[in-house]
Amino acid sequence: RHLLDRIGQLDSQLNSFITVTGEQALAAADHADRILAAGGAGPLTGIPIAHKDIFCTDGVRTSCGSRMLDNFVPPYDATVVRQLADAGTVCLGKTNMDEFAMGSSNENSYYGPVKNPWHTGLVPGGSSGGSAAAVAAGLVPAATGTDTGGSIRQPAAFCGITGLKPTYGRVSRLGIVAYASSLDQGGPMARSAEDCALLLNAMAGHDPADSTSTRREVPDYCAELERPLEGLRIGLPKEYFGEGLDAATGECIQAALRELESQGATLVEVELPNSHLTIPTYYIIAPAEASTNLSRFDGVRYGHRCDSPENLHDLYTRTREEGFGDEVKRRILVGTYALSAGYYDAYYRKAQQARRLIRDDFLACFESVDVIAGPTAPGPAFGIGEKISDPVAMYLEDVYTLAVNLAGLPGMSVPAGLVDGKPVGLQLIGRHFDEGRLLNVAHRFQ
Ligand code: GLN
Repeated sequence: RHLLDRIGQLDSQLNSFITVTGEQALAAADHADRILAAGGAGPLTGIPIAHKDIFCTDGVRTSCGSRMLDNFVPPYDATVVRQLADAGTVCLGKTNMDEFAMGSSNENSYYGPVKNPWHTGLVPGGSSGGSAAAVAAGLVPAATGTDTGGSIRQPAAFCGITGLKPTYGRVSRLGIVAYASSLDQGGPMARSAEDCALLLNAMAGHDPADSTSTRREVPDYCAELERPLEGLRIGLPKEYFGEGLDAATGECIQAALRELESQGATLVEVELPNSHLTIPTYYIIAPAEASTNLSRFDGVRYGHRCDSPENLHDLYTRTREEGFGDEVKRRILVGTYALSAGYYDAYYRKAQQARRLIRDDFLACFESVDVIAGPTAPGPAFGIGEKISDPVAMYLEDVYTLAVNLAGLPGMSVPAGLVDGKPVGLQLIGRHFDEGRLLNVAHRFQ
């Protein structure tokens, strides 16, 4: 009730929620109370959370930040939603996001931009900006997000919270509205590494209904939190500290790294020589996959349908013209172009080859270091309206986050400090399935 009141008081300014499910939340809280009274509580029993509005929720609208799905009420829960409900969490609602998770500022939502709680003139980052803002403002202690190209880590950095993008395949994608299927991954956003570990314990695991989810056993992600850092080798990619990084942000990151060094870690310079390929590679692969995934929104099966179509062609074109926003249309155009006959070899195939080089760079580094660290974003949160009319400037925001998705690696953002009163995130990147190590390092920043 306290948090629902708080959402009522503050969210008209922040716009971090698209839907608040007050009644269901109170019923779920009562149920949790009974479990507590009966002595059957687990670590997440009764813990209020929110889900990014990309996760399907049975009987609760799942808009994906789009007019296209404004009226879509799924008949089932995403696996992650079910796992967290089974663990006893109480869902307070669905959080705002960039339309179909495309964006780095949360300005692409059909429901309007989200404001950064640290300063309402700033963006919260995107695309999981609603979840990040809600956690930062104390509207919920934790929330889910998805990260296709930084969408958990960058908003976590901009809002001064902790976010974890797990290894591709660690968390089920069933019931997450698909953006770029080979990159998408759900994960926790919370106030601390420990809270992220508790959530990941519930979210991770094999899902027979998602063939890309792994059968690997789920370790207890809380078990390694206190492990000392002695002997840990942290690689600092020189490409992540060069041109393009805001100077004050760089200093803040260096200070955080010195702190890790003082606790016994060794800092080593490493190289990711194909880093310059990251943005062009991602912005071919992600739109290509998006263009095929979004072909399902045709006005026939679910979601928006235009009024009185004259024929099938008119139904498709007007439905999509009305249902999708500008950035989504731009991605569909880029994606269909890159996949067209005659262009496929020059763009999509080339991008897949570059993707392999990017991944191999990381694997080579991980032969000599345990964790890679650097900034999450080139600077702190920018102003609402500042970059929205320049897509390339917006895509450059993702320069340090995209490679992690292309390589399928786990990545985290932890609060490193403030620059001019704005939060800065330290990014930690681990070996495949080494989330425990990332959480262990991130736990130093509690
Ligand atoms: N900025 C990235 C994009 O627009 C973020 C995507 C994501 O992680 N959902 O594609």
